[in-house]
Amino acid sequence: AQQEEKVLTFDDLGLKKEILKSIKFAGFTSPSPIQAQAIPVVLAGRDMVGQAHTGTGKTAAFSLPALHNMKLDGSVELLVITPTRELATQVSDEIFKYGKNLGVRTVTVYGGSSYKRQLDLIGRGANVVVATPGRMLDILKKNMLPDFAPSMVVLDEADEMLDMGFLDDITEIFSYMPTDRQTLLFSATMPQPIKTLAHKILENPEFVSITKGETTNADIEQLYYVIDEHERDDAIIRLMDSETTKKSVVFCRTKSEVDRLSNVLSNAGYLANGLHGDMEQRQRETVIKGFKSNSVKVLVATDVAARGIHVNNISHVFNYHIPFDPESYVHRIGRTGRAGTKGKAITLLTPLEFKELQKIKKIVGTSMEHAFVPSKNDLRQ
Ligand code: ADP
Ligand code: MG
Repeated sequence: AQQEEKVLTFDDLGLKKEILKSIKFAGFTSPSPIQAQAIPVVLAGRDMVGQAHTGTGKTAAFSLPALHNMKLDGSVELLVITPTRELATQVSDEIFKYGKNLGVRTVTVYGGSSYKRQLDLIGRGANVVVATPGRMLDILKKNMLPDFAPSMVVLDEADEMLDMGFLDDITEIFSYMPTDRQTLLFSATMPQPIKTLAHKILENPEFVSITKGETTNADIEQLYYVIDEHERDDAIIRLMDSETTKKSVVFCRTKSEVDRLSNVLSNAGYLANGLHGDMEQRQRETVIKGFKSNSVKVLVATDVAARGIHVNNISHVFNYHIPFDPESYVHRIGRTGRAGTKGKAITLLTPLEFKELQKIKKIVGTSMEHAFVPSKNDLRQ
């Protein structure tokens, strides 16, 4: 709390004026807590593990000092590894934005798209590569980039990559990286396998954690409603009707539940669309685009499909079912309350699911409150 009192500015951090100009242009007035703590460590060349809630500005926390330290000699100096292609694009755009006044060139590398184009762009003087693990490893294994030796490697959203089964790929990618590199690892949560990975790939790292023992963001109001199994659809519609929502994400446990519920919500008059792993990439992209541009207001999704979708202005997260594991709860609700805005996380559960609730409460703390579904009469007023 003491540190938060002296207001630190981006100028205080000693970043290059070209970068400060971009920050101003982005409209950022002061560094977020993870940025204030991480930037000096990264500038000093240290390895670092950074833990902070979703939406607290981890991308700029590594991008800004990385850009500051670049020689910009026409080689790839920074490799960022992210869990999904959506996130790779998002991070690459953000680095481009901050590095524009330095003339920084970024390239994204991910599966399902031409190798040739990606390799050509890298060959033509990219300074930064933002990649998903599978395609990156493939390129390295096939020796398609013989001179690839980034001096800084960043693992972004490491816990999501773990959940998606990328741990082995990531470990192997590091066998191709220079040993005298600087390595950073960012994650919202720190499960044991991530700690073990950090121990393997980082050297004498500084640990920066902004979670203060809490796994979730204080800006997210968390409520749960106890209902009977057959009341789920009715309850979710009534809650949506009674809440002032901007954008919402409704989490389901299965793909078929996503399909069914997105239909139910559409029929109830909501601009709802489903998102799950069985959809084609093109279809997924259309839905995500619609969600970003507000033509879709309610995104009904599975946990896996929602990975890597970091959209601002999500006012509500609904758990149609309580998730099985607490980590997944933390991830789900982290979709709201981004960049200092307030959010609400609403969970439906039946008395049979009290066990899951206790498990989550134990990890998340006591901040989940019991509330009551508005009756039909309440809504008519
Ligand atoms: P995280 O990786 O921690 O989930 P992001 O890096 O995606 O979070 O940042 C979340 C949002 O906050 C983004 O829209 C970003 O532009 C914004 N943001 C980042 N840093 C600042 C800042 N210092 N001031 C205001 N907004 C910021
Ligand atoms: Mg992030």
